[in-house]
Amino acid sequence: ETKEPILTVNNIEVVYDEVILVLRGVSLEVPEGAIVTLLGPNGAGKSTTLKAISGLLRTEDGEVTRGQVTFMGETINNRAPEEIVRRGIFQVMEGRRIVEDMTVIENLRLGAYTRRDKGVKDDIEMVFDYFPRLRERTGLAGYLSGGEQQMLAIGRALMARPRMILLDEPSMGLSPLLVKEVFNIIRTINREQGITMLLVEQNANMALRQASYGYIMESGKIVLDGTREELLNNEDVKEFYLGGG
Ligand code: ATP
Repeated sequence: ETKEPILTVNNIEVVYDEVILVLRGVSLEVPEGAIVTLLGPNGAGKSTTLKAISGLLRTEDGEVTRGQVTFMGETINNRAPEEIVRRGIFQVMEGRRIVEDMTVIENLRLGAYTRRDKGVKDDIEMVFDYFPRLRERTGLAGYLSGGEQQMLAIGRALMARPRMILLDEPSMGLSPLLVKEVFNIIRTINREQGITMLLVEQNANMALRQASYGYIMESGKIVLDGTREELLNNEDVKEFYLGGG
């Protein structure tokens, strides 16, 4: 129980374009092997928090100007995204940024770009075992349905053999049935491979069902956190995030 969390975000402040303060002291912890969710309204700073962890902030002129992001005991603030991938964190971006004019397999190989070992072929098979419908799609990824593109984006993350995956709104734009399917697979991957997950969602109901712990963010700050049960039973959470009742 007293094990160090695999990821610790300690009081980070994030600024875009040197002046726009978006995160105002955000702290959170993710235990190894857990699924933790980060919830909150549009524009609260959820995506920014994930990008501060993965290093992708740098590609948008953002910077962590205060505080620390610590992964497996080492500070990784403002490091290059490739280095953070090599250390074991892979972010699945919002809007499933797959490469539309490449095939499924080419997209999967992209996920393995930091690897030098020979296991890539086997891992493509592993991804197809998790997402059987991707195996049948031999054309360009741009022709995949929204749900299949989300599956491909997650599959590509697996190809990096990460210790931790940051998921930015995997349910966005999917039908309720597909949302269920995608979250089932995310849970299976977490269980079978022990990959730690930090899940950003607007769909609070769904997200809390997957996670053991949750944080709620508003206007660049964490305003509430607790176990799944604590949050599901919290009156404010019920009223503002779980659709009343
Ligand atoms: P959403 O679900 O809409 O993505 P979010 O909680 O993930 O919401 P962020 O995308 O992190 O929120 O955005 C937080 C704030 O930072 C918003 O006010 C947004 O306008 C601002 N912001 C995001 N990206 C940039 C950027 N590249 N440059 C300047 N401001 C940005």
